[in-house]
Amino acid sequence: MAASRLIFLGPPGTGKGTQAQRLAQRFGLAALSSGDVLRKEIRAGSEIGRQAAEFVQAGTLVPDDVITGVMLAAVDKLTPGTGFILDGFPRTVPQAEELGKGLVARQLEVQVVVDFQLDDQEIIKRIVSRRVCNKCGATYNTLFLPPRTADVCDKCGGELIQRVDDREDVIATRLETYRAQTAPLVDYYTQRGLLCSVDASAEAETVEADVVRIVEPLDAGG
Ligand code: AMP
Repeated sequence: MAASRLIFLGPPGTGKGTQAQRLAQRFGLAALSSGDVLRKEIRAGSEIGRQAAEFVQAGTLVPDDVITGVMLAAVDKLTPGTGFILDGFPRTVPQAEELGKGLVARQLEVQVVVDFQLDDQEIIKRIVSRRVCNKCGATYNTLFLPPRTADVCDKCGGELIQRVDDREDVIATRLETYRAQTAPLVDYYTQRGLLCSVDASAEAETVEADVVRIVEPLDAGG
Protein backbone atom coordinates (compact mmCIF):
# COMPACT_ATOMS: atom_id res chain seq x y z
CA MET A 1 0.00 0.00 0.00
CA ALA A 2 2.79 2.38 0.90
CA ALA A 3 3.93 2.16 -2.72
CA SER A 4 0.55 2.73 -4.41
CA ARG A 5 0.49 5.30 -7.19
CA LEU A 6 -2.77 7.15 -7.83
CA ILE A 7 -4.27 10.09 -9.66
CA PHE A 8 -7.20 12.05 -8.21
CA LEU A 9 -9.28 13.53 -11.04
CA GLY A 10 -12.36 15.73 -10.87
CA PRO A 11 -13.48 19.35 -10.92
CA PRO A 12 -12.22 21.79 -8.29
CA GLY A 13 -14.10 21.72 -5.00
CA THR A 14 -14.97 18.02 -5.03
CA GLY A 15 -12.80 17.20 -2.01
CA LYS A 16 -9.81 15.70 -3.86
CA GLY A 17 -7.33 17.58 -1.70
CA THR A 18 -9.02 16.59 1.56
CA GLN A 19 -9.17 12.96 0.50
CA ALA A 20 -5.59 12.98 -0.75
CA GLN A 21 -4.44 14.20 2.68
CA ARG A 22 -6.52 11.56 4.49
CA LEU A 23 -5.37 8.71 2.29
CA ALA A 24 -1.75 9.82 2.39
CA GLN A 25 -1.82 9.79 6.17
CA ARG A 26 -3.61 6.46 6.34
CA PHE A 27 -1.32 4.59 3.97
CA GLY A 28 1.96 6.49 4.23
CA LEU A 29 1.72 7.98 0.74
CA ALA A 30 2.85 11.41 -0.47
CA ALA A 31 0.01 13.75 -1.51
CA LEU A 32 1.31 15.88 -4.38
CA SER A 33 -1.17 18.69 -5.13
CA SER A 34 -0.32 20.63 -8.28
CA GLY A 35 -2.30 23.66 -7.04
CA ASP A 36 -0.38 23.66 -3.73
CA VAL A 37 2.95 23.30 -5.51
CA LEU A 38 2.13 26.28 -7.77
CA ARG A 39 0.86 28.45 -4.89
CA LYS A 40 4.11 27.74 -3.02
CA GLU A 41 6.17 28.77 -6.07
CA ILE A 42 4.10 31.96 -6.43
CA ARG A 43 4.59 32.83 -2.73
CA ALA A 44 8.32 32.20 -3.08
CA GLY A 45 8.48 34.50 -6.13
CA SER A 46 10.36 31.84 -8.14
CA GLU A 47 10.64 31.81 -11.94
CA ILE A 48 7.96 29.09 -12.10
CA GLY A 49 5.79 31.13 -9.74
CA ARG A 50 6.09 34.12 -12.05
CA GLN A 51 5.12 32.02 -15.06
CA ALA A 52 2.13 30.52 -13.24
CA ALA A 53 0.66 33.46 -11.31
CA GLU A 54 -1.55 35.05 -13.97
CA PHE A 55 -3.11 31.70 -14.93
CA VAL A 56 -3.81 30.66 -11.35
CA GLN A 57 -5.45 34.01 -10.58
CA ALA A 58 -7.61 33.83 -13.70
CA GLY A 59 -8.66 30.21 -13.09
CA THR A 60 -7.11 29.01 -16.36
CA LEU A 61 -4.41 26.36 -16.78
CA VAL A 62 -0.69 27.02 -16.60
CA PRO A 63 1.19 25.75 -19.68
CA ASP A 64 1.51 21.97 -19.91
CA ASP A 65 5.31 21.89 -19.99
CA VAL A 66 5.61 24.08 -16.88
CA ILE A 67 3.33 21.97 -14.69
CA THR A 68 4.56 18.63 -16.04
CA GLY A 69 8.17 19.54 -15.26
CA VAL A 70 7.26 20.69 -11.76
CA MET A 71 5.25 17.57 -10.94
CA LEU A 72 7.78 15.06 -12.27
CA ALA A 73 10.43 16.90 -10.24
CA ALA A 74 8.20 16.49 -7.16
CA VAL A 75 7.98 12.73 -7.83
CA ASP A 76 11.76 12.57 -8.18
CA LYS A 77 12.20 14.19 -4.77
CA LEU A 78 10.32 11.38 -2.99
CA THR A 79 12.18 8.74 -1.04
CA PRO A 80 12.43 5.73 -3.39
CA GLY A 81 9.61 3.26 -2.74
CA THR A 82 7.19 5.93 -1.48
CA GLY A 83 3.80 5.80 -3.16
CA PHE A 84 2.04 8.99 -4.23
CA ILE A 85 -1.27 10.60 -5.03
CA LEU A 86 -1.25 13.15 -7.85
CA ASP A 87 -4.00 15.60 -6.89
CA GLY A 88 -5.05 17.98 -9.67
CA PHE A 89 -2.48 16.70 -12.16
CA PRO A 90 -2.73 15.84 -15.01
CA ARG A 91 -5.44 18.24 -16.22
CA THR A 92 -5.08 17.94 -20.01
CA VAL A 93 -4.50 15.05 -22.42
CA PRO A 94 -0.97 16.30 -23.32
CA GLN A 95 -0.12 16.42 -19.59
CA ALA A 96 -1.41 12.86 -19.20
CA GLU A 97 0.72 11.69 -22.13
CA GLU A 98 3.89 13.34 -20.83
CA LEU A 99 3.20 12.06 -17.32
CA GLY A 100 2.65 8.55 -18.67
CA LYS A 101 5.98 8.61 -20.52
CA GLY A 102 7.79 10.07 -17.51
CA LEU A 103 6.41 7.45 -15.14
CA VAL A 104 7.11 4.55 -17.51
CA ALA A 105 10.73 5.71 -17.72
CA ARG A 106 10.88 5.64 -13.91
CA GLN A 107 8.97 2.30 -13.67
CA LEU A 108 6.37 4.09 -11.56
CA GLU A 109 3.20 3.73 -13.64
CA VAL A 110 -0.06 4.89 -12.05
CA GLN A 111 -2.28 2.01 -10.91
CA VAL A 112 -5.65 3.73 -10.48
CA VAL A 113 -7.30 7.04 -11.39
CA VAL A 114 -10.09 8.04 -9.00
CA ASP A 115 -12.69 10.37 -10.53
CA PHE A 116 -14.54 12.54 -7.97
CA GLN A 117 -18.08 13.27 -9.16
CA LEU A 118 -20.19 16.17 -7.90
CA ASP A 119 -22.72 18.52 -9.51
CA ASP A 120 -21.82 22.14 -10.24
CA GLN A 121 -24.27 23.66 -7.75
CA GLU A 122 -22.71 21.76 -4.86
CA ILE A 123 -19.21 22.53 -6.15
CA ILE A 124 -19.89 26.28 -6.13
CA LYS A 125 -21.39 26.09 -2.62
CA ARG A 126 -18.32 24.25 -1.33
CA ILE A 127 -15.77 26.50 -3.01
CA VAL A 128 -17.20 29.86 -1.96
CA SER A 129 -17.27 28.69 1.66
CA ARG A 130 -13.68 27.34 1.56
CA ARG A 131 -11.02 29.14 3.61
CA VAL A 132 -7.30 28.44 3.78
CA CYS A 133 -4.70 29.34 6.36
CA ASN A 134 -2.31 31.90 4.92
CA LYS A 135 0.48 30.49 7.09
CA CYS A 136 0.28 26.67 6.98
CA GLY A 137 -2.18 26.10 4.10
CA ALA A 138 -4.69 24.06 6.16
CA THR A 139 -8.15 24.06 4.57
CA TYR A 140 -11.46 24.85 6.30
CA ASN A 141 -15.04 25.37 5.22
CA THR A 142 -17.36 27.86 6.88
CA LEU A 143 -20.31 25.49 6.29
CA PHE A 144 -18.89 21.99 6.72
CA LEU A 145 -15.60 22.30 8.58
CA PRO A 146 -15.46 25.61 10.46
CA PRO A 147 -12.42 26.51 12.57
CA ARG A 148 -12.89 26.66 16.37
CA THR A 149 -12.48 30.46 16.26
CA ALA A 150 -13.75 32.36 13.22
CA ASP A 151 -10.99 33.20 10.71
CA VAL A 152 -8.22 31.64 12.85
CA CYS A 153 -6.40 28.41 11.98
CA ASP A 154 -6.87 25.67 14.62
CA LYS A 155 -3.45 24.26 13.83
CA CYS A 156 -1.13 27.27 13.80
CA GLY A 157 -3.16 30.38 14.70
CA GLY A 158 -2.66 31.82 11.20
CA GLU A 159 -5.29 33.95 9.49
CA LEU A 160 -7.88 32.18 7.33
CA ILE A 161 -8.42 33.76 3.94
CA GLN A 162 -10.34 33.08 0.77
CA ARG A 163 -8.18 32.11 -2.22
CA VAL A 164 -8.47 34.73 -4.99
CA ASP A 165 -9.55 31.98 -7.37
CA ASP A 166 -12.26 30.76 -4.98
CA ARG A 167 -14.37 33.86 -5.70
CA GLU A 168 -17.57 33.20 -7.59
CA ASP A 169 -16.56 34.92 -10.87
CA VAL A 170 -13.34 32.87 -11.11
CA ILE A 171 -15.07 29.61 -10.18
CA ALA A 172 -17.16 29.82 -13.36
CA THR A 173 -13.95 30.00 -15.42
CA ARG A 174 -12.43 27.09 -13.50
CA LEU A 175 -15.48 24.92 -14.14
CA GLU A 176 -15.49 25.81 -17.84
CA THR A 177 -11.77 25.07 -18.02
CA TYR A 178 -12.40 21.71 -16.36
CA ARG A 179 -15.12 20.76 -18.82
CA ALA A 180 -13.17 21.83 -21.90
CA GLN A 181 -9.68 20.61 -21.02
CA THR A 182 -9.77 18.13 -18.15
CA ALA A 183 -13.01 16.16 -18.59
CA PRO A 184 -11.58 14.36 -21.69
CA LEU A 185 -9.26 12.56 -19.25
CA VAL A 186 -12.24 10.55 -18.00
CA ASP A 187 -12.38 8.80 -21.40
CA TYR A 188 -8.60 8.74 -21.68
CA TYR A 189 -8.16 6.77 -18.46
CA THR A 190 -11.31 4.66 -18.98
CA GLN A 191 -9.81 3.44 -22.26
CA ARG A 192 -6.67 2.47 -20.37
CA GLY A 193 -8.68 0.52 -17.80
CA LEU A 194 -7.57 2.76 -14.94
CA LEU A 195 -10.66 4.80 -14.05
CA CYS A 196 -12.81 4.33 -10.93
CA SER A 197 -15.47 6.84 -9.84
CA VAL A 198 -16.63 7.95 -6.41
CA ASP A 199 -19.71 9.92 -5.44
CA ALA A 200 -18.15 12.99 -3.84
CA SER A 201 -21.45 14.36 -2.50
CA ALA A 202 -21.33 12.20 0.62
CA GLU A 203 -19.63 13.12 3.93
CA ALA A 204 -15.84 13.02 3.95
CA GLU A 205 -15.77 9.77 5.98
CA THR A 206 -18.04 8.00 3.48
CA VAL A 207 -16.05 9.20 0.48
CA GLU A 208 -12.85 8.11 2.21
CA ALA A 209 -14.28 4.61 2.77
CA ASP A 210 -15.16 4.42 -0.95
CA VAL A 211 -11.65 5.48 -1.96
CA VAL A 212 -10.11 2.99 0.47
CA ARG A 213 -12.19 0.21 -1.12
CA ILE A 214 -10.69 1.15 -4.48
CA VAL A 215 -7.12 1.46 -3.24
CA GLU A 216 -6.91 -1.52 -0.88
CA PRO A 217 -6.83 -4.24 -3.56
CA LEU A 218 -3.70 -2.60 -5.02
CA ASP A 219 -1.78 -4.04 -2.10
CA ALA A 220 -2.42 -7.58 -3.29
CA GLY A 221 -2.14 -6.83 -7.00
CA GLY A 222 1.03 -4.70 -6.83
P1 AMP B 1 -6.25 23.73 -7.65
O1 AMP B 1 -5.75 24.11 -6.31
O2 AMP B 1 -6.02 22.29 -8.00
O3 AMP B 1 -7.69 24.12 -7.88
O4 AMP B 1 -5.40 24.55 -8.72
C1 AMP B 1 -5.36 25.97 -8.69
C2 AMP B 1 -4.87 26.50 -10.02
O5 AMP B 1 -3.54 26.05 -10.27
C3 AMP B 1 -5.67 26.07 -11.23
O6 AMP B 1 -6.84 26.84 -11.44
C4 AMP B 1 -4.62 26.29 -12.34
O7 AMP B 1 -4.47 27.65 -12.65
C5 AMP B 1 -3.34 25.82 -11.67
N1 AMP B 1 -3.13 24.36 -11.86
C6 AMP B 1 -3.17 23.38 -10.92
N2 AMP B 1 -2.93 22.18 -11.46
C7 AMP B 1 -2.73 22.39 -12.77
C8 AMP B 1 -2.46 21.54 -13.88
N3 AMP B 1 -2.35 20.21 -13.75
N4 AMP B 1 -2.31 22.12 -15.10
C9 AMP B 1 -2.40 23.45 -15.27
N5 AMP B 1 -2.69 24.30 -14.28
C10 AMP B 1 -2.85 23.79 -13.04
